[in-house]
Amino acid sequence: MSTGPIRPTGRAYTALRPASAARITGGFWAARRRTNAEASIPQGTARLEAAGNLANLRAAADGKGTFVGDYPFQDSDVHKWLEAASWQLADRPEDGSDSDGELAASVDELIALLAGAQEADGYLQTYYRLARPDQRWQDLRWGHELYCAGHLLQAAVAHHRATGRFELLAIGVRFAVLVDTLFGQDRAIDGVCGHPEIETALMELYRETEEQRWLDLAAYFVERRGQGLLSEGTGRDPGAGYWQDHIPVREATTVTGHAVRQLYLLAGATDLAVETGDAGLRAALERSWAAMAGTKTYLTGGLGARYDWESFGDPYELPPDRAYAETCAAIASIQWSWRMALLTGDAKYSDLVERTLFNGFLSGVGLDGDSWLYVNPLQVREAHEEFGGDDSVRRTSWFRCACCPPNVMRLLASLPHYMASGDAEGLQLHQYATGVYEAGGGRVRVETDYPWRGRIAVTVEAAPADADWTLSLRIPSWCPDFTATAPNGDSPAETVPGWLRLRRRWHPGDTLTVDLDLSPRLTRPDPRVDGVRGCVAIERGPLVHCLEGEDQRAGIPFEELTLPHDAHLAVRHEPDLLGGVTVVTADGRSRGGADVVPLTAVPYHVWANRRPGPMRVWIPQE
Ligand SMILES: [Zn+2]
Repeated sequence: MSTGPIRPTGRAYTALRPASAARITGGFWAARRRTNAEASIPQGTARLEAAGNLANLRAAADGKGTFVGDYPFQDSDVHKWLEAASWQLADRPEDGSDSDGELAASVDELIALLAGAQEADGYLQTYYRLARPDQRWQDLRWGHELYCAGHLLQAAVAHHRATGRFELLAIGVRFAVLVDTLFGQDRAIDGVCGHPEIETALMELYRETEEQRWLDLAAYFVERRGQGLLSEGTGRDPGAGYWQDHIPVREATTVTGHAVRQLYLLAGATDLAVETGDAGLRAALERSWAAMAGTKTYLTGGLGARYDWESFGDPYELPPDRAYAETCAAIASIQWSWRMALLTGDAKYSDLVERTLFNGFLSGVGLDGDSWLYVNPLQVREAHEEFGGDDSVRRTSWFRCACCPPNVMRLLASLPHYMASGDAEGLQLHQYATGVYEAGGGRVRVETDYPWRGRIAVTVEAAPADADWTLSLRIPSWCPDFTATAPNGDSPAETVPGWLRLRRRWHPGDTLTVDLDLSPRLTRPDPRVDGVRGCVAIERGPLVHCLEGEDQRAGIPFEELTLPHDAHLAVRHEPDLLGGVTVVTADGRSRGGADVVPLTAVPYHVWANRRPGPMRVWIPQE
């Protein structure tokens, strides 16, 4: 069974199931995950200590003290760190050795703090314990109580799945029982949380415990949203759309409001549709996803154009310089799209996962694993005025509102889960990373230098000995051309859009090799996106590239750089640049000038790792 964050039940109405075992053992993502394991996660506890999160837990255990921090949801940073650490603990080396004793000790320490801070009736949120005693559940709009409960439950399920232990699960279930006792149309509180998150968490608790009550409670929170329960129109009220309380999920036609809230809600609704087979809900999810991907998604996969309320803008309102594109929104998008990929089997969802992973998500964490971006714009000007704060376009070691760093940690720690799936026919590879994946009754080993090189070699290690079996590889929608080499001259075919499939009798050691064409390309924006009209972007494979001032010829103002419409593009691997990247070079111009100005474009995900300077993804065309 999968040790990842999503595990549909045996009864689920899902086209595909996550791999039962998945390990990333080398290449691009292994390096990033090593930094996550060796820098980000270990430093996380120190950051949580410095920010007061752990002091809050100790004070809550003592029943006295002052709450530290600016937000009622400080505890959720701890929960997300625990989830990350749990997935990391599940990621044992192939030789079975246990080198994570220190991490396991930190996890135990934080679980003990949570146990101490939990109140007698199961309630656990230090903000209300310390700063607002006797005001529980009074402010569902901003209190984030169910949101914190949700992150606690996700950590609890992760810890149980990863270690087989019950300590954290017991804490989570006690809180969930309290919520279940209080919330419902015939209970003391008929309401939903201002910030969705409890929905996915309850669905996974249902999957972990097989207790129907958690699915019923999740269904209540999904279905009661959109009934105007949150909008009272007083005080600091961004309007019902902000928290998706203006229309039920099953009637919605697009994504709106606060991006992270919207995407966590849709991920939870997808889990519900997967387990219930609700066709109406599924149709609504497919509709909203299509509207999001088609009209509200940046080239980087970034989501949420507006700084104003961290929200989605109108269709095609995608300014590159004022792109909010919170790192958490990219993570939430990956989580939702992966659920849609499993539900439907459609490759387009994993296409967006790939675009987001390699660009708008990965830019959120620096190469050192300890410097972060909360917002991920597609342009920063030479004369950018820097005021600091969480919205800064410069990396920082932590945030006042520190939702993003532990969110990045938990996604990277659980990343193998998003690579492959299986069904009755065989195994599907959604993303390409060197490693071993077991699903659909077989096991494969993948070797690749992706995304720097386009060759993906898949060797079957185990497959049914006496039956045909199907190996499927996603052919990315950006890919103009590919070649495939199979054993005995067999020809894999794209019989299902987006999937290169080969059904045959496989023997251990058989290798299917696919070469994706990674020629760099110029991408034109949708003409309805006014913010980048007249510009082009450089892409190569799954990577969006950008110009950083640092790499361009000195003496020419950055804002004057342009690309002629017939610009020649070339690639060069730079092993010593930014941890080793392939750059794309182009013959550019200075606006109005005749001389060639060489331009160098680095992958977007490594921007802002050097001294502060200008950057742009969309380049004006001459
Ligand atoms: Zn965030």
